[in-house]
Amino acid sequence: QITVGVLALQGGVREHVRLLEELDARTVPLRTPSDLLGADGVRVDALVLPGGESSTIDRLLRTFGLFEPLREAIAAGLPTLGTCAGLILLAREVLDPAPGQHSLGVLDVTVRRNAFGSQVDSAELDLQTVDGPVTVAFIRAPQVVATGPGVEVIALRDQAIVGVRQGAITGIAFHPELTGEPLFHRRLLETASGAAASVRSVA
Ligand code: GLN
Repeated sequence: QITVGVLALQGGVREHVRLLEELDARTVPLRTPSDLLGADGVRVDALVLPGGESSTIDRLLRTFGLFEPLREAIAAGLPTLGTCAGLILLAREVLDPAPGQHSLGVLDVTVRRNAFGSQVDSAELDLQTVDGPVTVAFIRAPQVVATGPGVEVIALRDQAIVGVRQGAITGIAFHPELTGEPLFHRRLLETASGAAASVRSVA
């Protein structure tokens, strides 16, 4: 069984947990560095960074000493899915950060926050992705405005890039967990079980 650490400092944690458990994953809420390192004996095979307010999550990450361990774990290849604020946290560059806002810088993209307007412009939409059609929710969503060479675009909303993949990291500007859309979480679990199998085969 795959164990997924769901960053649980702020934002929409519960819906991710529900969707992952429906897909037979085990979930652990991540709040401290020891949650990530498996001090309770649980090894985390994958990560979900949920939506919420990216500057608040960033501030709490630094307050709880989780910013650097999280950055290192993702940079070392831990399969990771970031949604909305989670995508902003992953990004190398945030064009319009809140004062003092940092990002982990592990995903080679530039994002613009609140790119589709304010809360009143939140919408449930059908999108085409490289892995098939999905129905997802946009809530004060960011847009990817530039991608580095190793980054694959996996979803567009009109002409705007709203989903990217770089190695084991996937960043999406929208919320599949709010519509119960399982495609991205299923992919995360597949990536994690592939990674677990290759660790076992060299061990
Ligand atoms: N606008 C939020 C931010 O900048 C993200 C919104 C979301 O995660 N639904 O962090």
